[in-house]
Amino acid sequence: MTLRELLHSDTTALSFEVFPPKVDSAFESVKTAIEEIARLRPAFMSVTYGAGGGTSRYTLDMAATTQRQYGVPTLAHLTCVSSTRETVAQRIADMKAAGIENVMALRGDLTPELRNSDRESWHYRYAVDLVHELRQTGGFCIGGACYPEIHPESADQKEDIRHLKEKVDAGVEFLTTQMFFDNNLLYNFLYKIREAGIAVPVIPGIMPITNAKQVERAIQLSGSFMPQRFKSLVDRFGHDPAAMMQAGIAYATDQIIDLYANGIKVVHVYSMNKPEVARKIQDNLSCILT
Ligand code: FAD
Repeated sequence: MTLRELLHSDTTALSFEVFPPKVDSAFESVKTAIEEIARLRPAFMSVTYGAGGGTSRYTLDMAATTQRQYGVPTLAHLTCVSSTRETVAQRIADMKAAGIENVMALRGDLTPELRNSDRESWHYRYAVDLVHELRQTGGFCIGGACYPEIHPESADQKEDIRHLKEKVDAGVEFLTTQMFFDNNLLYNFLYKIREAGIAVPVIPGIMPITNAKQVERAIQLSGSFMPQRFKSLVDRFGHDPAAMMQAGIAYATDQIIDLYANGIKVVHVYSMNKPEVARKIQDNLSCILT
């Protein structure tokens, strides 16, 4: 099932993100976690893609199996910047053959190795190049990433939104946001992209921070702004794993309820292969989700 229907319906829904094992030895534990999350029957599950290592090998398997065995629609991520045209063409053909209908078209991060290489030798420069290729193949509902707090490589928000519009005009049908911890950043961003003529549905991405170590990693990864309310929570409960988990889930739930209250229909949870976190958030919203 494509996500098109869901995103244009009135359903109030949650989706969860999972990532495939980075090493073979983690395969069984990751598979179990993904199955547990699938049993919660979210609106859809996205499966991330890590160029290079084991992750890329398993993305397709995990997405196809989840769809087939649990009937949960999946969104398979695909990055391009570190790949050749041949590899990407093969991945697209494999997705088609496996019945994948929803693809998150991403550029991927620039590794130090890539940064030091000759850009002329790259087969892909931006996610939009991959969007064109997926459109050419046809039959996919294509998603793209967006950044309420600006992509770190962009000089300013205007430039970032201009490139985002090019990506949408090339065929992206919905956008999922980078994590953020202050909903006002999202509302501001939505206002600006709508003004710039970007009309596709935007799925806010919420990361429940359930341990203190995650905070540092999350900021490093996303450059997200941490509101004082959130910092106080980490200061107070960070040393106590159970308390931090409860407080982090409550904070994420609060963000999600505010998003729904302000007209957002589908929220994506960066559930990080943690069924317990996904379940608790879903339970907290049991009378709200439709
Ligand atoms: P792009 O849309 O190409 O944008 C990258 C930068 O280039 C931006 O600054 C943009 O403004 C600029 N730009 C775009 N077009 C042009 C142009 N024509 N000229 C000049 N500048 C331009 N990474 C993974 O490796 N695997 C994953 O599964 C994964 N999933 C993700 C899911 C979400 C929801 C998000 C938000 C990110 C995800 N990432 C993932 C990380 C992502 O790959 C990085 O953030 C990456 O740096 C940018 O990817 P993009 O698709 O947004 O790139």
